[in-house]
Amino acid sequence: MANKTAKSCKFVVVGGGIAGVSCTEQLASQFPSEKIVLLTAAPLIKAVTNFKKVSKTLENFDVEEQPCSIIERKYPNVKVIQSEVKQLQAKEHKLLTENGKELHYEKLCLCSGGKPKLFIHDSPHVLGIRDTDSAQELQKRLSKAKRIVVIGNGGIALELVYEVEGCEVVWAVKDKAIGNTFFDAGAAQFLIPSMGADKPERATTCKRARYTTDRAAPECDEPNRNPGSAEKLGSALGPDWHEGIELRGTQEMSHRVHVEYQCEVLKVYSAEDFLSSPQRSPDPSSDPGLWPVYIQLTNGKTYGCDFIVSATGVTPNTEPFLQGNNFTVAEDSGLKVDDHMRTSEPDVYAAGDVCTACWEPSPMWQQMRLWTQARQMGWFAARCIGADLLDEPIELDFCFELFSHITKFFNYKVVLLGKFNAQGLGQDHELLIRCTKGEEYVKVVLRQGRMVGAVLIGETNLEETFENLMLNQMDLSAYGEELLNPNIDIEDYFD
Ligand code: FAD
Repeated sequence: MANKTAKSCKFVVVGGGIAGVSCTEQLASQFPSEKIVLLTAAPLIKAVTNFKKVSKTLENFDVEEQPCSIIERKYPNVKVIQSEVKQLQAKEHKLLTENGKELHYEKLCLCSGGKPKLFIHDSPHVLGIRDTDSAQELQKRLSKAKRIVVIGNGGIALELVYEVEGCEVVWAVKDKAIGNTFFDAGAAQFLIPSMGADKPERATTCKRARYTTDRAAPECDEPNRNPGSAEKLGSALGPDWHEGIELRGTQEMSHRVHVEYQCEVLKVYSAEDFLSSPQRSPDPSSDPGLWPVYIQLTNGKTYGCDFIVSATGVTPNTEPFLQGNNFTVAEDSGLKVDDHMRTSEPDVYAAGDVCTACWEPSPMWQQMRLWTQARQMGWFAARCIGADLLDEPIELDFCFELFSHITKFFNYKVVLLGKFNAQGLGQDHELLIRCTKGEEYVKVVLRQGRMVGAVLIGETNLEETFENLMLNQMDLSAYGEELLNPNIDIEDYFD
C-alpha cells in the first residue's frame, strides 16, 4: 500500500533548476517565517553564483550544481525533498509524489524545465543533450567515435560542432545558414572560418562552475527514491556545459565539420536495415565500412556514423501536471502564464522552460528558453506570489523590457539585444552592419530611425551604449551609417 503521509505547506516549488531555485530563494528571503518546500526529481540543484549586472539589462552569472543541504543551510525555512511529482490535483491544491507522498500547498510554482525534443524516440543511436548525465553519455560515446551527425541549428548544436575534436562532424541544418536561432546569414558567414581553424588553448582557469561528473551523495530528503528517475529529469545544462568534459573522438585531428544546409532527417537506419535497403550507397568518398547507424537526409544524401545527436530544442516538461487539470497550454506546449506568472489554474504559477509567456510583450522583448530568463522568471514568479498573497500590486519587471543575452559562440563573445534578428518586424526595418573578418561583427536593427535590436560578436564594447539607445528610443535617422563608423567613438557621441 502506498505510504501516503499528507503534509501541508504555504509555498511549494517544483524543480531544482535555475528557475525553481531562484523562486525558492526569493520566497525564502521574503517570507522568513514561512516554510518553503522545494520538490525536485534530481539529486543536485542548480544555484546562481557570482551574479553581476553587466548593464541595465545584461547579466552574467555562474551556475553551480550543489547538494540540497547548501540551500537548506542558507535558508533554514527551506526544505528540499528529492522526489518526482507524479500528479497535480489543482482543485484540491495537492501534489502526489513518486514515493507516495501527498503535499498540500497554498501557492505552487511549477519550474519543471523541458525535455530534449528528439526527432526520433527510442533509438539507441540517437542522443539528446539536456543534463549532466546526457553530457556524460555523449562524452563516453564520442571517445569511441570517428564520425557523428548533429541535427539542429540552435545554441547547443553551435557549441557542440565547435567543441568536438578528433571526430568528423556532419551537421545537418534546416536553414540556409548556421545558427539561425541567433544569427542572420551575415553573422553565420563571419563565424564559419572558426569551424575549420584550430581552437585556441583554453585558459587554465575559468571562473564558470563545472558540472561534476561524480555524483555527490544526495543529501536531501529522498525516502524510497527510485534511482532511475534522476537520469530522466536532471536540470538543464547551461553556459560552458562542455568545459568540464572532454569532447574528443578517436581520430588524430582538431575539428572537421561538414555542413548540410536546408535539410531535415528523412529516415534513420540501423546497420542491418541499411544493408537490405535500396539506399545502400552512402557518401562513398568517406565511408570506411559498416557504421552502427545511417541517416538519410531530405536533400537525398545518406551518411553512416557512430551515433546521431539530436539538438533540436526542448519541449516543456508539463506531463505530470496536465491530467485532470485545466491548464491553458500554448502552441509550443508550455504552460501559458500571464504578467503575474500565473497559469490558468488558481494559485499555480510557472517559470522557466516549462512556461510560455503570454502577456503582451514589450516591443523589444521575446521569450527564449535560456538560462537568464529562467532566473528572471523564477525570481519574478516569487515576487508575484508574494504580492498576490499580500494583495499588493506588482508591475512586470524591468528585465522583461528589453531582450538581452550574453554568451560565447566559437570562442567569440556574443551579445544579443532586443529584436536582434528583426523578429516580427517584417519589412519594416533596416540593417546596418560592420564586419572585420576574424575580429568583430556588429549588426544594428533600426525601425523608423530607432534602434530596436543588435548582434554584437567579438569585443565590441558597444553593448551598453546600444542598450541605452534602445531603451531611450532616440531618433537616430540623422546619423545614418555613421552610427557604425569605427572612427567615431560612439560612447562619447551619445553621452
Ligand atoms: P531545468 O534546468 O530543466 O530544471 C528543471 C528541474 O525540474 C530539474 O531540477 C528537474 O529535476 C525538475 N523536475 C522535472 N520534472 C519534475 C517532476 N515531475 N517532479 C519534480 N521535479 C521535476 N541557456 C543559456 O542561457 N545559455 C547557454 O549557453 C545554454 N546552453 C545550454 C546547453 C544545453 C546543453 C542545454 C540543454 C541548455 C542550455 N541552455 C542555455 C538553456 C538553459 O539551460 C535552460 O533554459 C535553463 O536551464 C532552464 O532552467 P529551468 O529551471 O527552467 O529548467
